[in-house]
Amino acid sequence: MESASEPAKKRTRGLGTAPQTDTSRPRAPRLSTAPQRHSQAAEAQTKHSSLFRLSSPCIHFSSPRAAAQRFPRKTGPFPPAPAPKNQKPVPTVPAQKPAASAAPAAGGKKPGKRPAWDLKGQLCDVRAELQCCREKTQTLDRENQQLRDQLQEAQQQAQALGAERCSLEGELARVQAQAEQGQRELGSLRARVLELEERLGMQEGLVHMLQREQLELQEERRTLATRLEEQERRLQASEAALSHSQAEAESLRQETVAQAALLAERGDRLHGLEMERRRLHNQLQELKGNIRVFCRVRPVLAGEPTPPPGFLLFPPGPGGPSDLPTRLSLSRSDDRRATLTGAPAPPTRHDFSFDRVFPPKSGQDEVFEEIAMLVQSALDGYPVCIFAYGQTGSGKTFTMEGGPEGDPQLEGLIPRALRHLFSVAEEMSSQGWTYSFVASYVEIYNETVRDLLATGSRKGQGGECEIRRAGPESEELTVTNARYVPVSCEREVRALLRLAHQNRAVARTAYNERSSRSHSVFQLQISGEHAARGLQCGAPLNLVDLAGSERLDPSLALGPGERDRLRETQAINSSLSTLGLVIMALSNKEPHVPYRNSKLTYLLQNSLGGSAKMLMFVNISPLEENVSESLNSLRFASKVNQCVIGTAQANKR
Ligand code: ADP
Ligand code: MG
Repeated sequence: MESASEPAKKRTRGLGTAPQTDTSRPRAPRLSTAPQRHSQAAEAQTKHSSLFRLSSPCIHFSSPRAAAQRFPRKTGPFPPAPAPKNQKPVPTVPAQKPAASAAPAAGGKKPGKRPAWDLKGQLCDVRAELQCCREKTQTLDRENQQLRDQLQEAQQQAQALGAERCSLEGELARVQAQAEQGQRELGSLRARVLELEERLGMQEGLVHMLQREQLELQEERRTLATRLEEQERRLQASEAALSHSQAEAESLRQETVAQAALLAERGDRLHGLEMERRRLHNQLQELKGNIRVFCRVRPVLAGEPTPPPGFLLFPPGPGGPSDLPTRLSLSRSDDRRATLTGAPAPPTRHDFSFDRVFPPKSGQDEVFEEIAMLVQSALDGYPVCIFAYGQTGSGKTFTMEGGPEGDPQLEGLIPRALRHLFSVAEEMSSQGWTYSFVASYVEIYNETVRDLLATGSRKGQGGECEIRRAGPESEELTVTNARYVPVSCEREVRALLRLAHQNRAVARTAYNERSSRSHSVFQLQISGEHAARGLQCGAPLNLVDLAGSERLDPSLALGPGERDRLRETQAINSSLSTLGLVIMALSNKEPHVPYRNSKLTYLLQNSLGGSAKMLMFVNISPLEENVSESLNSLRFASKVNQCVIGTAQANKR
């Protein structure tokens, strides 16, 4: 049995269709070779079936070659001779009767035909033939035996092949199942592939987009890199500049420290110089006189008669026309003298000399130049009083406040003085001085004081005010009910002057031409402080537009209206003469100064005498008809001009 199954096994292997080899193969190639395998299986089946046919009793070979090919190793002693295809095998021994006389020809030589009589020969031939047949029979028996062996072997093979077929069928079923599974998998894989392809497409699109973006970003990166380089270069340049600047700043700082020290030293020196300047300025003012009188002659106005030639003369000083005019000569023809002698008397000349004389052509700026020094004195801490004295219509208000508003050339002393004060105070702030200014504006009419800065319900009414001491111990005087307005610029002062003008205009309707019958007192309290040195100075600057100095002829004062006018005039004359008396008393250093005799002198008592500086403008009309009043004014002014008030002391605290 062992020897029989072994060849079968070998043959099975030799067929090359062992199913078990397939299981170890990868799936994908199996898929691709499935049809081939199918054909191999079919071939195996064909072979199988042919083997079955071989094992059946009616088995026959289609051809000797096929049999020989099928069983190449089973060659017998008489291999079949080659035969044409599809030809039945023929026996190798011829059926002819051999020659009787001759021995059967060895080597297959065909004996010739024996004659009928040669029975012996024929018998010999039959024997030979019999012998041949026996041999043939034996051969056939052997062949038969061989064929039986072969059959048995083939049957065994068929059995093995049947088993193999079963296993192959099982394998086939399995493979088919696998193939189906594979198909399904393939289907799902195709779907997956499609899906993946789709995704791949999307991803490729995305990749394209990203690539484009990448390119753009690369471009941007290059641009940014260029810019960065540029910025870095600039930064380096800036850093270099910065370090240079820092070095410069350091040297500047050192320089600043040195400058600060120098500045402090110079500040000290400047302060010393400032103090010296104040002292010298004051000395100069004192040399000029603490009481100064300026005469101003207004021009002839349109519609006024031209005065006769030589009526008013301005003789030049000893230095000739280049000298500033200080003299004035007025001619007066005395009619009474003319009647006494019967012939017109020659006009009498009246010569006057003042600190300064301003002829009609003198402008407001020219007048102010002389005042500027006094304004400086006020800032330095010396009280200053500037009066305008003269008959009504002589130009007092024009001198003090100025002409119609809007023409800067016509601005009067008050706006100019304040502008000058503000600018000098500003300049002195660099030296450490801080100034503040408080303004008040009152009028004294018939010995009553009224506020010209009154507003609201008090406007125009000018509720009565009283002059009082600021405190029980204080020397300072204040006007009750009057407004004291802090001012810091020209605009504010202008507004105050406008308000005062309105107040006077309202009053004028109630009291006929009261403004010319009253004294207007503009007071500016100046306070200076040098905080660093602990210095303070303060002084009032007074700008007074006095009431008309004209006298009323007593012989004409008859009617009830004239009586009021007389009272008014007496009050004015009284206050003006009190002013003259006060100045005289101060000049003569009399123990009693009659300040209290008039409201005006009482109000101004701190700005008169002592350290105070006083300036009086005597305003003169150029008209011949006013010659009497002009002479009166000039005489009064001359008296004042003769006064010398003692050495002034600055109000330093
Ligand atoms: P007062 O105040 O003394 O009564 P005003 O100042 O009112 O006199 O002057 C009277 C008139 O003369 C006003 O019209 C004024 O404009 C004019 N006037 C006075 N002085 C001058 C002058 N220097 N130049 C031009 N006009 C003047
Ligand atoms: Mg006036």
